[in-house]
Amino acid sequence: AAEAAAAHRASAVSAVLQQYGALQVASGSAAGIADAALGMIGGSGVCDTFYVYDLGEVARLHATWLDTMPRVAPFYAVKCNPEPGMVAMLNALGAGFDCASVQELKCAAAHNVPQDRVIFANPCKRPADFRYARENGVEYTTFDCVSELEKIAAGYPAFKCVLRIRCDDADAKINLGLKYGADLSDVPMLLGMARHLGLQVVGVSFHVGSGCQNVGVYADAIAAAREAFDMAASYGFNMELLDIGGGFTAPYDEPSARLFYQTAGVINGALAACFPEGCGVRIIAEPGRYFAETSATLFTTILGQRASCGADGQGFRDYWLSDGTYGSFRIQVAVDGLEPSYSVLRSPLLPPPTAEEDCSLLACRLWGNSDRDGDVVHKAALLPALRDGDWLMFPYAGAYTICAASNYGGVCFTQPLKVFVYSSEALRDLGGFDLPAAAAAAAAAGLDVAAAAAAAAAGVGGSCGSMSDDTGSC
Ligand code: PLP
Repeated sequence: AAEAAAAHRASAVSAVLQQYGALQVASGSAAGIADAALGMIGGSGVCDTFYVYDLGEVARLHATWLDTMPRVAPFYAVKCNPEPGMVAMLNALGAGFDCASVQELKCAAAHNVPQDRVIFANPCKRPADFRYARENGVEYTTFDCVSELEKIAAGYPAFKCVLRIRCDDADAKINLGLKYGADLSDVPMLLGMARHLGLQVVGVSFHVGSGCQNVGVYADAIAAAREAFDMAASYGFNMELLDIGGGFTAPYDEPSARLFYQTAGVINGALAACFPEGCGVRIIAEPGRYFAETSATLFTTILGQRASCGADGQGFRDYWLSDGTYGSFRIQVAVDGLEPSYSVLRSPLLPPPTAEEDCSLLACRLWGNSDRDGDVVHKAALLPALRDGDWLMFPYAGAYTICAASNYGGVCFTQPLKVFVYSSEALRDLGGFDLPAAAAAAAAAGLDVAAAAAAAAAGVGGSCGSMSDDTGSC
């Protein structure tokens, strides 16, 4: 049975790679991604923002997760990056999905995800959400206050309700505790109200905050969840689900690997103590950043430039990019105040840079592509002299980037081109995996990234990262 399941998974993955025209690259490293981008620029002459999605990285991270936290089933938080190629890949791998809206539920439905692999993890639902849930038999949802319980009772009492409690890391990159999550002291009152309304409470969830830094908070949260479970049992509820939320960072360098493996160790230990194996509780998590961050690389081109002088009399260079804080950098830079990492990709369509252009680094300001003074992607980058048409490559650009892009100024931040790649080494954990015929042919013919980009742009599986259509594809 295990072999049959593995074979089924391998063929599902293979089908996704074919559907999205994913190209095999030598390695999923920055060099492999840069090669794919050069093929894209050189082949199709693209001169605007685009993304390279590494579906092999998605598979690698999924395998790493299962190896590291075998008791915790990952439910990808679609809001982090609703890219259909990522959703399709994770579905093929057997992951579940955390959906926060009807559009995201439709996205899961469009990929035929069964309801037991979906959680509607929005503790404040709209009337339309209840309509959709009623008509489509959505099973699990979260709540954290009396008014939500009343809405559930009136709108769709068949929901299996999961109580979201508050336990957050104050140092997380994105805090979520002020808005959602019940204090433990309010849990008896909420359980009493749920009982009174005739609802079924089946589990407990929490979210420690995205980009959690203090790993011990997971142990506190799991212990608090245990307390809530025991209280719920005393109210006669049949508790079956523990949802440990998000907050995970993928292991991609030494500090992030240390953080991820420490987090996993804390979680495994706390689960063994509070929810030991065989206790009959299904354990899930809602990782978003973990899967998305390193799976996409953003490429912006230099649209213009000028020499400038600071108040201190020091010269520096201004560059205007093809994306900005109204686009992909809206959350990371404009809201969270983080500085993105970047590297240079010389355009293959321009002459090679002169030694002078290449050698010394200049202080630069990177402007986004809008009219606003505040639209600064980086205040103090250090770069060699760039020509208009050269490129900047932003790695780790998959999480909370394109999903938050606006269409301010009509520059279509929301619909950049995209291309899909994978490296076979990333798929080794699938066992018995064969290269899909299309990718093998592409590999034999050289890296035909332009054709794959054209296929992606033509809408294979949806051509944009926006959630604006209502066809069920996201
Ligand atoms: N689950 C819920 C309810 C969220 O609000 C979020 C992010 O905001 C996530 C999961 C994903 O979190 P992360 O990206 O930290 O994994």
